[in-house]
Amino acid sequence: MNWTPSQRKEVITSELIGGLMRREFSVRYQPQINTHSEALIGVEALCRWTHPILGVISPAQFIPIAEQAGLIPFIGEWILDAACKQLMLWKHRHGVQLALGINVSAYQLRDAQFLSVIQRTLESTGFPADYLHLELTEGAHVHDDMVEQLRAIRIAGVGISMDDFGTGYSSLSLLSRLPVTTVKIAREMINGKDVSERAEIIFAAIVSLAGQLNINVIAEGVETSKQLEFVKNGGCSVVQGYYFNPPLSAGEFERAYFMGRA
Ligand code: C2E
Ligand code: CA
Repeated sequence: MNWTPSQRKEVITSELIGGLMRREFSVRYQPQINTHSEALIGVEALCRWTHPILGVISPAQFIPIAEQAGLIPFIGEWILDAACKQLMLWKHRHGVQLALGINVSAYQLRDAQFLSVIQRTLESTGFPADYLHLELTEGAHVHDDMVEQLRAIRIAGVGISMDDFGTGYSSLSLLSRLPVTTVKIAREMINGKDVSERAEIIFAAIVSLAGQLNINVIAEGVETSKQLEFVKNGGCSVVQGYYFNPPLSAGEFERAYFMGRA
């Protein structure tokens, strides 16, 4: 069926709660690779919604709607729990503890219960706090109460990643305001049509700045060998992107990474 964008938005809004109750949501895992050792070191968990009629709905479409509808805490708690359980299962089966990046919305940071939700999940799944990283995008909307919440989360041992770094609202000043442990350099910084000398200098400067602040760096959206070279030349050793794999279902991920690489 061909929906107009506004019809589709309306249907997504009205179907969201039903979709959660019918367990139509799932998690995809995108590998994060150390380019020196070629070792798999972690994953980013990304949410998917497969609706029986609308098909696969991108989080870019339903997350803003879920935020408006006040449903983000439910989705956030569910994905955190599901991903922690999955990574603990892999740890027990394959003996590897992977780091876990979870996207969090500013709405979750404003929720006074958020830290206790994280702590409860870590406790019930046995997932180690220092392997969990919360990925934040909405830098522009970081208010003082959220800074307090982030500091408390960091004190609890959980990492704070600045997502899409180098674009939009992820400004440099946030690096001094927030207890950031990782910056994820946005794919826009590396996928210009012709990766110029200026882009190389800017990329290397971000990596160097992060190093001086003792902040880890992950380059996102690496799609080609040329981009991989660019990132390596800039001094960044952890990458994520279609060059290695798109986000995979748990089964696909296990086959690709634990049972001989696909
Ligand atoms: P993001 O955090 O920037 O996630 C990276 C997006 O880039 C993902 O899109 C991923 O599939 C895509 N990607 C990964 N590698 C490449 C590449 O090499 N090239 C290109 N062109 N794209 C690549 P996805 O899965 O559609 O997610 C879109 C956004 O939705 C995410 O952007 C994140 O902000 C949000 N999101 C996803 N899951 C969740 C969630 O559980 N909670 C919240 N609050 N937001 C989520
Ligand atoms: Ca992210």
